[in-house]
Amino acid sequence: RAKEEGRNGHRFFDENMNRESLERLTIRQGLRKALDAGEFLLHYQPQVDLASGEVVGFEALLRWMHPQWGLVSPARFVPVAEESGLIVPIGSWVIHEACRQAAAWERMGLPPVVMAVNLSAVQFKRGDLEAVLGAALTEAGLPAERLELELTESLLVDDPQLVRTRLLSLHAMGVKLAIDDFGTGYSSLSYLKRFPVDRLKIDRSFVSDVVSDPDDDAIVRAIIQLAASLGLRTTAEGVETEATREHLQRLGCDELQGYLVARPMPAEDVPDWLQRHVARRA
Ligand code: C2E
Ligand code: MG
Ligand code: MG
Ligand code: MG
Repeated sequence: RAKEEGRNGHRFFDENMNRESLERLTIRQGLRKALDAGEFLLHYQPQVDLASGEVVGFEALLRWMHPQWGLVSPARFVPVAEESGLIVPIGSWVIHEACRQAAAWERMGLPPVVMAVNLSAVQFKRGDLEAVLGAALTEAGLPAERLELELTESLLVDDPQLVRTRLLSLHAMGVKLAIDDFGTGYSSLSYLKRFPVDRLKIDRSFVSDVVSDPDDDAIVRAIIQLAASLGLRTTAEGVETEATREHLQRLGCDELQGYLVARPMPAEDVPDWLQRHVARRA
């Protein structure tokens, strides 16, 4: 079989393509029903102040519990949802649910935190984004300052005029803006000067080996310095070890997120986790 595929590269390619598109088709059909069927949920991962360990925020991460397939990774279904436009209603649900949850925790007596939500380019470009955000904040009774939108670099370089107008109007609403996976996208940094961004999230690919890899160390250092001189905060993504945390603290990183602190967890686990986290720090 391998021989045959080796001789006939086209056939191998086509078979892969078919398998790929079949999976996407199956996922797309599943996604259409998932919202009404209530198959989506959010897990929340804490973001802590690097020096004190104090919890300052949570990132809402979308999960899909399919009745037959079980938990489907967002890496598999978010791209399909983006392609098909289904990310728009799904993303609105995420915004509403995350705002509702942040307000609910506060009513339970938990300390106020910033809720971070990932936004796709398709959502970002739609004319009704401010209306969706405004409705979610009002319904939840959550101040705009407690919502942070995570945007990717690629989204910011697409249509600079539209992006600028949109970011200014979000900024005027009071919503916080973070650049997700910073350092992996488009290489022009000029947008940082032009746009009202609050935070850079340093991509996990630079953070994982920052202790042992001099190149990663140089990149992370440069990002932290850049952020400091522009007055932006930094969050390191994917921090898994205490050695990494200490290293990032020496470099002056503000906040961290990663398995070292906690994996993303269901909303109902958060109050107990917070209590244990506070006890551990004391
Ligand atoms: P992201 O926004 O960069 O989210 C961080 C990802 O890193 C999450 O994966 C999280 O579980 C994972 N992570 C956090 N700490 C660690 C660590 O210490 N080690 C390792 N190995 N991984 C860590 P997840 O939840 O699978 O999400 C993957 C991506 O899917 C997200 O990357 C984001 O781009 C996208 N996504 C998730 N939820 C949404 C959503 O509601 N809307 C949109 N548009 N995209 C979403
Ligand atoms: Mg994110
Ligand atoms: Mg990220
Ligand atoms: Mg990522």
